[in-house]
Amino acid sequence: MSSAHREADLPIAIIGAGFAGIGTAIRLVQEGIHSFTIFERADEIGGTWRDNTYPGAACDVPSHTYSLSFEPDPGWTRKFSPSAEIQGYLLRLVEKWRLRPHLRLRTAIVEARFDEARAVWLLTTDRGETVTARVVVSGVGGLVDPALPDIKGIESFGGEIFHTARWNHDYELTGKRVGVIGTGASAVQVVPSIAKQVEKLHVFQRTPAWVVPKMDKVYSERARRRYQRFPILLRASRFLQYWASELFGPMVFLDAPRLSALGERLSMRHLHAQVKDPVLRKKLTPHFQFGCKRILVSDDYWASFERPNVELVTEPIEEITRDGIVTKDGAKRAVDAIVLATGFSVGLASAPFPITGRGGRALDDAWKDGAVAYKGMTVSGFPNWFILMGPNTGPGHTSVLVYTEAQIEHVLGAIERLRRGAKWVDVRQDVQDRYNVGIQARMKRMVWHTCNSWYLSKDGSNHALYPGFAAEYVVRARHFDPKDYEIATAG
Ligand SMILES: Cc1cc2nc3c(=O)[nH]c(=O)nc-3n(C[C@H](O)[C@H](O)[C@H](O)COP(=O)(O)OP(=O)(O)OC[C@H]3O[C@@H](n4cnc5c(N)ncnc54)[C@H](O)[C@@H]3O)c2cc1C
Repeated sequence: MSSAHREADLPIAIIGAGFAGIGTAIRLVQEGIHSFTIFERADEIGGTWRDNTYPGAACDVPSHTYSLSFEPDPGWTRKFSPSAEIQGYLLRLVEKWRLRPHLRLRTAIVEARFDEARAVWLLTTDRGETVTARVVVSGVGGLVDPALPDIKGIESFGGEIFHTARWNHDYELTGKRVGVIGTGASAVQVVPSIAKQVEKLHVFQRTPAWVVPKMDKVYSERARRRYQRFPILLRASRFLQYWASELFGPMVFLDAPRLSALGERLSMRHLHAQVKDPVLRKKLTPHFQFGCKRILVSDDYWASFERPNVELVTEPIEEITRDGIVTKDGAKRAVDAIVLATGFSVGLASAPFPITGRGGRALDDAWKDGAVAYKGMTVSGFPNWFILMGPNTGPGHTSVLVYTEAQIEHVLGAIERLRRGAKWVDVRQDVQDRYNVGIQARMKRMVWHTCNSWYLSKDGSNHALYPGFAAEYVVRARHFDPKDYEIATAG
């Protein structure tokens, strides 16, 4: 159909200006669609990479893969680029694709309601306005809101206290006594980065994690020039990194003890190479199957504990006082600052804000037995609403962006349908149900049910991760198949 027959100004609202929102906007522009607005509650774009600026913050999937396939960048200075470089990449893309005029910064969407008669979404912003959109692409992220620990006395602490995702760069850590609470993905980056600088570092660990070598390296100027001159080399690097992660995928996601044992051996060898003290090694050795919780990657985290100024504390925390941290055994560590490396409140189990679909049904009601969506993107009864990185789309073994990109293509397919005259597309309930029965059946063969983690909902079900290879998800998700949807036509 020629573009003259298309609905010219289908208003599209994108919520969130992280990789997902920016990636969607770029693909829309590439398809000649400019009728979109990106709502971002913060004062700049970037999402994860705007907020996580703590020392050592970097991606843990190699940059040639952890970047948009339609915007490859030969200029990454390291195999695993630091946060500031990733944020710089996103900022450059915003300028290159002239996205600034589409951006509404400092504007949060706080409510959404589907108006069936007009086939539009009415979005309420925190400024009190109501915005109308035919299509909504929700890219609000899953790891956005810091999870703050509920520790007795935390509010009475008289020193400096901040979360890794809200790093206080005005506070000088040099020569200070610091407590780091948490030993997850952010802690493994921050601990080695500040260990050299602080006078004393106490790392409070609840559960040790499996750590594998990162094998980070610098891309020399020569290498970068080569990637610039011969884009095929960059594509080849991405291809190899991506397929390597897929190859190792089953070791990370399957409940296959023999494969897990391979991963555990690799990690244990790394631990032995980095930590000589057997007592310390024991404290750092995980007691759950490889892959059950997030695998951490680091070349120097474990080695940090060999430093005389770094202490691993495994005794649980009892309380925080005005000037220190007290553990259950009564010992007190006096600290000047506390870093909360306590991760994020995972926002997958519920709607990010009240969302009301057809027949006045709330998304939280549709999700009362757990968050489900068709291919993680669409929920029956919520027409023209697309979730990026929704339920069961997180990877345990490779780049999130591979999934996000497939979802963006699906959304474009739906938009194409709407531009050709459909009023709305609403995923069929039977299709959505069948898909999710399949997902949960496969879940039983995955490693994640063998221990407790933030991947699991309160009832023990997993609505966070995709149980399989990324490549398989991409093939399933990228294509918008009208047969899966109820399509309402105009008139
Ligand atoms: C420290 C850290 C390291 C990571 N490293 C990797 C990695 O190496 N590889 C990997 O694959 N993944 C990694 N991730 C996961 C990472 O979150 C994703 O890869 C990706 O950045 C997510 O992009 P997003 O756009 O979906 O979400 P986000 O980047 O979280 O962006 C969401 C945006 O939506 C905005 N927003 C939220 N709610 C609203 C609202 N109601 N109204 C308006 N705006 C709103 C937020 O302010 C934010 O800017 C990492 C995550 C963290 C926290």
